[in-house]
Amino acid sequence: MLSQAIIKQLRDIVGRDGVLDSPEDLVAYSIDGTFAEHRPDVVVLPTTTDQVSRVVALAGHERIPVVPRGMASGLAAASVPFSGGIALSLTRMNRILEIDQENRTVLVEAGVITAELQAEVEKRGLFYPPDPSSNRHSTIGGNIACNAGGPRCLKYGVTGDYVMGLTVVLPDGQVLHTGGKAIKNVVGYDLTSLFVGSEGTLGVITEALLKLVARPRFVRTARAEFTSLDDASRTVNAVLSAGIVPATLELMDETAIACIEEAMHLGLPLDVEAILIIESDGSDEEAVIREIEAIARICWEHGARQVNVARDEQERDRLWKARRSVSPSLARKAPNKLGEDITVPRSAIPEAIRRIKAISAKYEQPIVIFGHAGDGNLHPNILFDKRDPEQWAKIEPMVGEVFGVALNLGGTLSGEHGVGVLKRPYMEQALGPLSVEVQQRIKQVLDPLNIMNPGKVLP
Ligand SMILES: Cc1cc2nc3c(=O)[nH]c(=O)nc-3n(C[C@H](O)[C@H](O)[C@H](O)COP(=O)(O)OP(=O)(O)OC[C@H]3O[C@@H](n4cnc5c(N)ncnc54)[C@H](O)[C@@H]3O)c2cc1C
Repeated sequence: MLSQAIIKQLRDIVGRDGVLDSPEDLVAYSIDGTFAEHRPDVVVLPTTTDQVSRVVALAGHERIPVVPRGMASGLAAASVPFSGGIALSLTRMNRILEIDQENRTVLVEAGVITAELQAEVEKRGLFYPPDPSSNRHSTIGGNIACNAGGPRCLKYGVTGDYVMGLTVVLPDGQVLHTGGKAIKNVVGYDLTSLFVGSEGTLGVITEALLKLVARPRFVRTARAEFTSLDDASRTVNAVLSAGIVPATLELMDETAIACIEEAMHLGLPLDVEAILIIESDGSDEEAVIREIEAIARICWEHGARQVNVARDEQERDRLWKARRSVSPSLARKAPNKLGEDITVPRSAIPEAIRRIKAISAKYEQPIVIFGHAGDGNLHPNILFDKRDPEQWAKIEPMVGEVFGVALNLGGTLSGEHGVGVLKRPYMEQALGPLSVEVQQRIKQVLDPLNIMNPGKVLP
């Protein structure tokens, strides 16, 4: 509980309407995209970097935890303020400050919604590729802080690949500028990258300079059905080995197909083990058509039972509808889900899925699996009802075993969602003690008072 004197100082910095402390507001800012919750003592909504700097300096002086927050769509409980303190929401800092056509960059405030930025640059023939499925309800700041990915990242790379520079308010309130518009920039340590994926533990990102590319003008999409998961997996490798890098290469296994069909009745086949959705894009229509035809051929050659290539935008939408329906379908099946995002080497996907299914059978608890097959990033979603103590008790050991599968097969804990608190206990197992210690030392240097998103990421 913060004193009225501190609340007043916060109001002096950000204005009356920038500070929320009613019980209803505190509840609204107590959750993220997981099942975790804890109320902050106060919510602060700054509109400038200077305000963020003054709020953070005050928090340091008073030893108040600060938890940066975008749209709170995170799936690792990283923006849940478990130690109370200030929930620092960046959502009012949502301006696109500059689109530089010549240098192909965009300068934005951290609270801009990713899809809004994408729509704005696309109007000018430019393209910001990183596409978390949550792009309509997540911010650029949150995407950078988690190094978010998405289906298109197979061809285009993840959020971090597009960050050229940052403005960051450090835990002592000082304002650090990193990077710039120069493409080649190797002067000193790469501080921009240090803040990418730091999940709000090292500072508050207030502005970002992002790289853009030319908007691909043509897209073609194919859907391939496989009665054997191994065939689907071999197809993924065959496509990539043929030198083709599709824009997306998504996989839904039979558990996801059944779940979507039960909820949406899209006419998906229930007698296949996997469906792949593969997309080609580019600026030369003939080349895109040739590529999707080559992909379809490889699918047939590797045991696909059915391959459909969309002929127009409407058909393309229909092919994607199933993939986009996964999350809503899960919500209809169980009140709670824990969506993990393990990665494994591509060739290990069938084995990973087999082992995860065995975990599901052992605990008699459903796990639905889908993901970005092209980069070995799987989303096993454990479905459960948190109100049932018997089901709740199974979740922790199940998660531990799922992470064990990823690590045993040469993969890791997270490909895009980050660590937050949910994966924190497994950090040492994944990275080894020295890597964790080096990261702890970095945190100690930048945030000696441990006010910036305390208790997240590091054990
Ligand atoms: C339905 C659904 C689908 C999703 N699909 C994907 C997907 O395809 N790919 C993917 O990568 N993720 C996905 N996610 C997870 C989530 O959307 C991403 O992690 C996203 O990047 C979080 O952005 P946010 O603005 O909501 O951040 P928040 O959830 O508010 O915060 C996430 C973390 O970033 C920190 N943070 C936020 N803003 C700042 C800032 N300005 N400065 C410093 N730290 C900050 C927070 O402290 C916290 O640690 C999905 C989530 C949902 C609910």
